[in-house]
Amino acid sequence: MSLKVVPQAIEIRNNKIEFDNLLFFIVDSNSSVKIEPLIGYDAIIIDSKDAEFAKLILKKIRGHYNPEFYLKPVFLINYKESKDPILHSLNDGFIHSYDQLKEIADVAKQIFLKTTQLDYQLVATFEAQMMKKVLNFMFTRDLKTLKPIPDLNSVIGYTYPAISVNFDSSEETQVLEILEWGEREGLVWPDFHERIYLCNQCSGGFLSYREVCPHCNSSNSSAQDLVHHFPCAYIGPLSDFQNNVDNALTCPKCNKALRHIGVDYDKPSIIHHCNNCDKNFQDFFVKAKCISCTQDVEVQYLIPKAINVYKLTKRGRTAASNGFLSTGKEVEDIFGTLTMAVFKTMLHYEIERIKENPEQQKSSIVIVNIENIFELYKKVGKKAEKTILESIVNLIRENVRPTDFIAFENSSTMYLGLINSDALQSEATLENLKTLIEKLIKNNFNDFSANINFKVKLLQPFNKSEFQLQELTKDLFD
Ligand SMILES: [Zn+2]
Ligand SMILES: [Zn+2]
Ligand SMILES: [Zn+2]
Repeated sequence: MSLKVVPQAIEIRNNKIEFDNLLFFIVDSNSSVKIEPLIGYDAIIIDSKDAEFAKLILKKIRGHYNPEFYLKPVFLINYKESKDPILHSLNDGFIHSYDQLKEIADVAKQIFLKTTQLDYQLVATFEAQMMKKVLNFMFTRDLKTLKPIPDLNSVIGYTYPAISVNFDSSEETQVLEILEWGEREGLVWPDFHERIYLCNQCSGGFLSYREVCPHCNSSNSSAQDLVHHFPCAYIGPLSDFQNNVDNALTCPKCNKALRHIGVDYDKPSIIHHCNNCDKNFQDFFVKAKCISCTQDVEVQYLIPKAINVYKLTKRGRTAASNGFLSTGKEVEDIFGTLTMAVFKTMLHYEIERIKENPEQQKSSIVIVNIENIFELYKKVGKKAEKTILESIVNLIRENVRPTDFIAFENSSTMYLGLINSDALQSEATLENLKTLIEKLIKNNFNDFSANINFKVKLLQPFNKSEFQLQELTKDLFD
């Protein structure tokens, strides 16, 4: 038991401080690297004397899937200005002494206030989950942009700390995919910053560019000036004109001494000599050797990627507090569907109805997700997206009862409410629908095979509709 008293009656007891109704925990290099025990504290102060250790702890906290961890206020003490993107970008402030506790307590309270405004609805895809996590972090910290930071530890040379913290440095290209997804969904807006080129085999960004011989691909070549002797019109490499004794140049054809460049001779270009195959050539190839997978790629086949500064759009700003539900333009007013809000209200009434006679009245809720439909959208373009969704809805409508209802969560996921249909019947309906939708997409879009997943659950009479939908979603995507 250690007891240390610091000015203003701040008492540190076993690394804990109680201050301003907040419970702080100080993580120092003697602390465990396990972060799970930190869950009960309101805020964490990491002693950054050992920067590597501080980085490890901060990465664990911000990289955690649980908002209780990744949104936790984290402050640094003994922090030396560092270039490390994680330490530098993902702290909530730093103090030089515990006398400044008041300042960070205020920051922590601000963050808490913001956290209470967040929407914790489960979201469908991995991309959506990641993006939601980043949006939550940005919302609670009042961040408006995601800026790329040059980083030697990243395989693509850049990092976006708030997203990258969720990935290994070797997986950094996935971060770009998440951002591209966010851009497609209208959550972030790109401002061009830089272009990078990636290996077409492994997406690595550590490339070694070389000029190689067009005959044998060797980079073992040397260059020399090409000399043109005007009086006799001889053209040859400089070495043809040189001798072993002095610096004088003599034409090998007419034996005259060369005098002044521009007057009696000229150097029109450069010629390369390959030391491997002994051939001369004027233009070399440029190849990029990937340091990660050793593949040697001609530069025109590298994958160009834009590194953008991403700004939050209005939709992105509200997604943190309102969730992603039914905000997508493409799923708005599709004939034959309800908005998610109306869908939930309808479910609520249906629950009330089955409550009266739970033994006799059985209804089901269903989630349907077309996992790879974004690939199809990419092919057919944004405009055709709605047409695809409309034809899917038509098809479903033809195969369910008029009393059943449909709502889109987003352009890849929808919910159905099947009234007076028990789990077994609903399962059969959905198997049939799945086959029909697959066929529809296959026939209309050049043999595209859609990956359709669904989950059916019997509507429970004594459980909130909101909660039942969440469970259903969780079941499908877990
Ligand atoms: Zn060669
Ligand atoms: Zn000559
Ligand atoms: Zn590679």
